[in-house]
Amino acid sequence: MKTAHRQVIIAGNWKMNKTSKEAAALTEQILAGVKSLSANAKNLPEIILCPAYTSLATVGPLLKGTGVKLGAQNMDWRNEGAFTGEISPLMLLDLKTNYVLIGHSERRHLFGETNATTNLRLKAALAHGLKPILCVGEMIDERENELTDAVVGRQVGAGLTDIDPAQFSQVTIAYEPVWAIGTGKTCEAKEANRVCSVIRKTVASLYARYSGNGHKFDAADMPILYGGSVKASNIAEQLKQEHIDGSLVGGASLNAEEFLAIIKAGADRVKHNLAAAAH
Ligand code: PEP
Repeated sequence: MKTAHRQVIIAGNWKMNKTSKEAAALTEQILAGVKSLSANAKNLPEIILCPAYTSLATVGPLLKGTGVKLGAQNMDWRNEGAFTGEISPLMLLDLKTNYVLIGHSERRHLFGETNATTNLRLKAALAHGLKPILCVGEMIDERENELTDAVVGRQVGAGLTDIDPAQFSQVTIAYEPVWAIGTGKTCEAKEANRVCSVIRKTVASLYARYSGNGHKFDAADMPILYGGSVKASNIAEQLKQEHIDGSLVGGASLNAEEFLAIIKAGADRVKHNLAAAAH
């Protein structure tokens, strides 16, 4: 069963929260919890912490040797230049960043990022060996007008336009309905799973188009995450779904206990995948 091979990912997006001192304290709490979880679970999910830019240089060294990965919340696509306030891929690499969120809904809707710049950022990330997590999701009026699949399909198609077929395997997609982010409203798990399966089909057809159907990459291997008011109390249901391979967590990732409970649910999903693979 294909699900068994997919990586399970739990990523924490700390948004514009925490000074570097506070970020260090939260990181230490999370790492202590991860250590005790790994004493009981052989295989943990891929864990990613995405602090604010100002804390990357503090959090990164704390993660060294722990297996927990460092992520940034955004980046510009240019290497350097007169772009006041922006951060380049080279600067993220310099801080040993592994992942970068691309096209988060707050970037799209509060800061005017477009599908076109999302594509530039994503391609720049891949060109520099940073792993992009492409965020997509519909607004509430789009959902009410039954435009969810069209909007999400367009965002995935635009975000992945013209990427090298060999790099599809480096991409993760996060389905984050805008109306569920930071609102306490979660997308019902079966519906989130349905949209994630639409995303997977879109990825498969894009890959076929770009690769001439080389069959080297299988969209069934791409991790697709759900995000939007995920908490310890609702993560298990999401992770029971076939097409949901983890979570991008905002608010709940600022609380070590909550985030660790979400990581534990991710570890249960890894265990389930391995057991399925053994059959
Ligand atoms: C997010 O920032 O990607 C997110 C999903 O936020 P929250 O979990 O707070 O809804």
